[in-house]
Amino acid sequence: MKLVSFRRGEALQPGALVDGRVADLSAAAASLLDIISSNHEQNWLDQAVRKAPRLPIGSAQLVAPIPLPRRNIFCVGKNYAAHAREFQQSGFDATSSVQDVPTAPVVFTKAPSSVIGPEAAILANLDPTNSVDYEGELGVVISRGGRGISRTDAMDHVFGYTIINDVTARTLQHKHKQWFLGKSIDSFCPMGPTLVTADEIPDPTRLKLETRVNGELRQNAVVSDLIFDIPTLIETISRGITLMPGDIIATGTPEGVGIGFTPPKYLKSGDTVAITIDPIGTLTNAVH
Ligand code: MG
Repeated sequence: MKLVSFRRGEALQPGALVDGRVADLSAAAASLLDIISSNHEQNWLDQAVRKAPRLPIGSAQLVAPIPLPRRNIFCVGKNYAAHAREFQQSGFDATSSVQDVPTAPVVFTKAPSSVIGPEAAILANLDPTNSVDYEGELGVVISRGGRGISRTDAMDHVFGYTIINDVTARTLQHKHKQWFLGKSIDSFCPMGPTLVTADEIPDPTRLKLETRVNGELRQNAVVSDLIFDIPTLIETISRGITLMPGDIIATGTPEGVGIGFTPPKYLKSGDTVAITIDPIGTLTNAVH
């Protein structure tokens, strides 16, 4: 199922994309977060979608599937080898002096207030250092929570997948050593356009990720190139932290970010970033 959240008037509502239309799930649940947290039987969603009124897709403005996460988004740094090398060579990595490819997952977070939806604007003008960069990533959404989740059980805790753009102010990331400030600016976490349930993506390692800036292909990778795979990330994060339904893990970005170029290709006002992972769709955001 391709789930979405959409705006109608002032309200944000849950829905599903079915045959090019939006099935309005607002009679069944208040939000996608509600659906995720309710831990329904598999066929609950199918039945809810069957009963839901259909809206023309043009009348439903999509927002991020989880427009306001309950808490910070978990993110993984340097999780593709080629990107780890380009990041180290760029000189912007203040956290590591010798080792480019990490020996344990590098985990940080982004503030919930940084989330925006598809077609919303990335506010590059909020970065006083003019060093805004894109990072196309696969996002994993947790269903059942828990602590001490083993690698073996990890995939049973995955509700589905979305796309995250881990937008980063590179100079802030470098200057403040800790990455939080440079990555949590309002609008620096585009998410969407859909949340595809795990049953439709039985093997996420086969997913392909492409990022285009103004139509130019910048990132082109397969998720199987992750250094630390999804089960390892869930095991690592949940070892001492209780994961909760609706938690989001951005799994890391591949090679091809703006600072991988000499000179760096930062985002500027008027640019458009489009990240595609089929079957999730394309997450497109203009830069303001
Ligand atoms: Mg990232």
